[in-house]
Amino acid sequence: MPANTTALDNFWMPFTANRQFKAAPRLLAEAEGMYYRSDDGRRVLDGTAGLWCVNAGHGRREIAEAVGEQLRTLDYAPTFQMGHPIAFRFAERLGEIAPAGLDRIFFTNSGSEAVDTALKIAVAYQRAIGQGTRTRFIGRERGYHGVGFGGISVGGLVNNRRVFPTLPGTDHLRHTHDPVRNAFSQDLPEHGAELADDLERLVGLHGAETIAAVIVEPMAGSTGVLLPPKGYLERLREIATRHGILLIFDEVITGFGRLGTPFATEKFGVQPDIVTTAKAITNGAVPMGAVFCARGVHDALMQGPESAIELFHGYTYSGHPVACAAGMATLDIYAREGLLTRAAELEAYWKEAVFSLRGLPTITDIRAIGLVAGIELASREGAPGSRAYDVFTDCFQRGLLIRVTGDIIALSPPLIAEKAEIDTMIEMLRETIKATA
Ligand code: PMP
Repeated sequence: MPANTTALDNFWMPFTANRQFKAAPRLLAEAEGMYYRSDDGRRVLDGTAGLWCVNAGHGRREIAEAVGEQLRTLDYAPTFQMGHPIAFRFAERLGEIAPAGLDRIFFTNSGSEAVDTALKIAVAYQRAIGQGTRTRFIGRERGYHGVGFGGISVGGLVNNRRVFPTLPGTDHLRHTHDPVRNAFSQDLPEHGAELADDLERLVGLHGAETIAAVIVEPMAGSTGVLLPPKGYLERLREIATRHGILLIFDEVITGFGRLGTPFATEKFGVQPDIVTTAKAITNGAVPMGAVFCARGVHDALMQGPESAIELFHGYTYSGHPVACAAGMATLDIYAREGLLTRAAELEAYWKEAVFSLRGLPTITDIRAIGLVAGIELASREGAPGSRAYDVFTDCFQRGLLIRVTGDIIALSPPLIAEKAEIDTMIEMLRETIKATA
């Protein structure tokens, strides 16, 4: 149906300038493989895997069939004091590909819920091991951890925090974004490992005995593809361990192959205690999230009387059978097509393509890793974000979906991308950046 016959008033759109959008809507009506089709019939190359989630590309029949079959077999069953086989099977499958030792899985319906769940597990764990004073969380500036009250509290985005109350007792590490010292690093940034020492500073300020967990994205995605400086995550791990603080990696974006390893944990060689995931766990087809916990964290809570509920937490749809079915089919595709490591094969080509944009007017930094890139533009005087927004709308007109945050462009195509599609993407972006400079 063309846009002008679709009523737009009722849907209050998330994270959208509703009035601006509804004056000039962009509607995606269909999708197949690497492409969307807009409601006016144009092919739009998906440069963002939807919202970082459609890692196996669009319209995968196996997922559709698994979902349909599951709906016919068991559409819904509770997982409170009840169970159904597919949730256990899917958790077992996830356990097989989990970062080493993190194979105790708590299901949620989104990344935001995964984050709030992880924070609650951290506090419950500390209490279970006799550290009940540890209730404080440490996040990081420019972190994005979803929109629950826990997530915005540990998150570091002013617009998400400005008008809402946040959890008492949260504090933040400084962010690691240094586009001057680290501009155009082709590898992990050289400068900034010492910023991990902020955790030591916050321990000094608050007392280790008040801190339950520190949460970071190993690579910050939504706030502009910010890569961890060399040695940073190792240092954070060391300080957290030394002070009995749990380390949570939010891998809602990096989980399931985005960086060329199943999880960023493996890419960076640093082992957290808890990992949060969502998005690509079902290829974006059905909402789902999952928290991967170290056995030690899980087992600490499996004490006390056997008849007692160990964790007073969960969702009506935790381990929803349809989401599990979508997830199982997704893992089958990832395994058969080697998608959890495909970004590693493409990384060199991808980096070369993305860095070929260097030198275009307005570009001040480029960052790339796995199959993700951030391209930072000089902000217009008095109108921050407007330049990247123009690039975004112009790209869409030309047939390319990108994502922008402030004046940073983010690219994260489906992991099935072929080199020719990478070339097309970069050439469209080049034309757009030139045209809007
Ligand atoms: N954490 C991270 C790192 C994310 O990127 C996101 C979503 N972009 C979330 C949490 C929240 O996920 P959701 O939107 O599914 O709640």
